[in-house]
Amino acid sequence: MSLPIYLIGARGCGKTTVGQALAAALGYDFCDTDYYLQQVSGKTVAEIVAEEGWPGFRSRESASLIAVTAPGKVIATGGGMILAAENRQFMHDNGHVIYLNAPAEILASRLEAYPENAQRPTLTGRPIAEEMAEVLAARDQLYRQAAHHIVDAMQSPEAVVQQIVNALSLARA
Ligand code: ADP
Ligand code: MG
Repeated sequence: MSLPIYLIGARGCGKTTVGQALAAALGYDFCDTDYYLQQVSGKTVAEIVAEEGWPGFRSRESASLIAVTAPGKVIATGGGMILAAENRQFMHDNGHVIYLNAPAEILASRLEAYPENAQRPTLTGRPIAEEMAEVLAARDQLYRQAAHHIVDAMQSPEAVVQQIVNALSLARA
């Protein structure tokens, strides 16, 4: 059975970019929990956070994770998906969990290059590089805990895809 593949990691690590390429390579469907949540609620992440606070967003995020889980899917998750122990456990038990690991400076420079992609409000209101370092320091252990495999996300997207395919011993049928 083709278990779902969950991609986890901080904003900018390449979950969407790598996820779409991985899905294409395997003939899987791709989905993104943030995108799903926005479609279902009819609101942007920023609007949900403004109206319901981060706890409201987090609770919708957990529900989205369960809703999108199905065989034959590559699932890009929101950067904070791993904050809840129940989400970490759910992913670990229901699929392959891949942590796309890259240093904070790289993540920040990617997000700064394409600020229009960084739709999520900053968590602290401080400069992105500073915030990214702090967020990653707090979350790196949780990403590692949740992951079955850790891959180097500084390689090209194609190389990251290949590394995941190799790690899971998957090839297109
Ligand atoms: P995420 O979904 O994890 O937030 P994205 O896939 O949206 O990350 O990527 C964030 C930015 O970084 C995009 O502009 C994307 O083109 C770029 N990017 C993603 N993966 C890589 C990579 N492996 N090498 C170089 N740039 C990348
Ligand atoms: Mg994304």
